[in-house]
Amino acid sequence: MNKAGHHITSAALAMAAWPALSAQDPLSGAVAATGMLVGASAPDWLEGVVWLGDKRLSLLPHRTLTHWPVLWLICAVLTAIIWSGYTRTLGLGFIAGSLLHIAMDLGTPTGIPLLLPFGQRTTARLYTAGTLREGVLIGAWCLLCFGIFALTT
Ligand SMILES: [Zn+2]
Repeated sequence: MNKAGHHITSAALAMAAWPALSAQDPLSGAVAATGMLVGASAPDWLEGVVWLGDKRLSLLPHRTLTHWPVLWLICAVLTAIIWSGYTRTLGLGFIAGSLLHIAMDLGTPTGIPLLLPFGQRTTARLYTAGTLREGVLIGAWCLLCFGIFALTT
């Protein structure tokens, strides 16, 4: 999935979660949604990518540590314990966007590492990036999120 697809699916997630996140404090919902949108592409840009023409250089190999769900789950627990208030809300929103990113990458043929960050990748083989099937998946996700939003507002 490309960067736009990750941002679209994350925005849909923020919409679905909006009623719950903003029920007591609208600013909290906005902070969480901001975190989700920034986190939507984080697993890719956290690899420290630099492009030299068509050549991709990065500090971390693609789809390794930053695409390992265990790391994000540990970060979620630490964020919930260490931070409070809007900082916690922003951090948890960021992590939710990142987890959605790697869940979407799980559907590609390349997959993501599940057991070890630099180990074998697992794929659900749902779609290939840039195909109609990817568009259908994004559309279905958006419809699901809109349905959740509509039922909870
Ligand atoms: Zn990715």
